[in-house]
Amino acid sequence: MSFPFIAQPLDPGRYEPEGLYLARPFDGSQIITQLWGENPGFYGQFYYDGVPLRGHNGIDFGTPTGTAVRATDDGDVIYVGYEAGGFGIYVKLQHRWGESLYAHMGRATVTTGSRVSRGQSLGLSDNSGGSIGPHLHFGIRIFPYVRSDGWGGFTDPMPYMDPTDIVQYRSALGTQAGGQGTDAADQLPRMASHRPRQRRP
Ligand SMILES: [Zn+2]
Repeated sequence: MSFPFIAQPLDPGRYEPEGLYLARPFDGSQIITQLWGENPGFYGQFYYDGVPLRGHNGIDFGTPTGTAVRATDDGDVIYVGYEAGGFGIYVKLQHRWGESLYAHMGRATVTTGSRVSRGQSLGLSDNSGGSIGPHLHFGIRIFPYVRSDGWGGFTDPMPYMDPTDIVQYRSALGTQAGGQGTDAADQLPRMASHRPRQRRP
């Protein structure tokens, strides 16, 4: 089987040639507080396999503390971890098509190795790690990905999301509008925990 629009040979079980449609990673509609690729000056402090980030490698949503964080597709929990000064409490899932990452959570209610279904709760959002207010950092990697591509192998999830899940874009930087947060950005000192030798999620 081959599809002319896919350059790589098909890897059974990994590609979803009919398209990738992510469920919302939270309850309700949420405001975007930071888009993909923003603030390159800040994110250059984070390294993946020795390569600094070229900008924000996900999307931030202004989810209030205690909002349910939900799996955007069926998958396996491959890591539940904590990264001080960065992602805080985070959950990483593996899907047929790649990985999804949910960061700055208050608590995770799933454990590494468990299977989750699309829409299932992974825990609650909050403000852990390098964060200036309650929000969810959401990122995806699509197979095959390269950690050293300047984005940590992540891809902008926006084209794969339903626009009705999102209210509007309102940058959380500078204004602190509505109490929504985003990643630490330039308002926090650079964290010593992100030296190049540290392996990031
Ligand atoms: Zn973020």
